[in-house]
Amino acid sequence: MTPADLETCPGCGAVFHWRDGPVHPYMTSSPACWADYGEVLSREYSDPALLATHRLSVDAYAVQHPGTPSRQSIQSVGVHLIRLCQFLEHGLAPEQANESMLAAGKIKHTFSWLEPPESLGIVTVRDVLKTNGSAAHAAMVRRWAQSAWDAWAPHHEIVREWLVRSKERV
Ligand SMILES: [Zn+2]
Repeated sequence: MTPADLETCPGCGAVFHWRDGPVHPYMTSSPACWADYGEVLSREYSDPALLATHRLSVDAYAVQHPGTPSRQSIQSVGVHLIRLCQFLEHGLAPEQANESMLAAGKIKHTFSWLEPPESLGIVTVRDVLKTNGSAAHAAMVRRWAQSAWDAWAPHHEIVREWLVRSKERV
């Protein structure tokens, strides 16, 4: 393959110009998709206006790249779906995001593998990288997160159950 070739990310399904490079150990993606995610994160780290957006990006990317069944992937998808549910259905404040992650972490050993849906959402990390300026970036991350959460609809009920259980343990 050369950079002129196109490659579909096995996680989110977005199409990228091929490139070689590292990928995450269990959030299975193409190297090009992982590189785009790295760029999105560095934009967010360097812009205080995007601090609140950052957690949503992490959640959206994680659930669009569920990988294959393993203890780590099961737990990662579970905690990130729980936090997306809280952000999008319960209006979780960004400052409560870590608390929510800790609560979910306490019950993550009880999660089971959720078979990823055929499509994991039409908005991907590529769309975020194409935006210009903090406001457009933040708005696209919101759409990205919603798209990823909606894609997991067949499993919303179980994620809501896990969310309730995680709160009971706090
Ligand atoms: Zn991807």
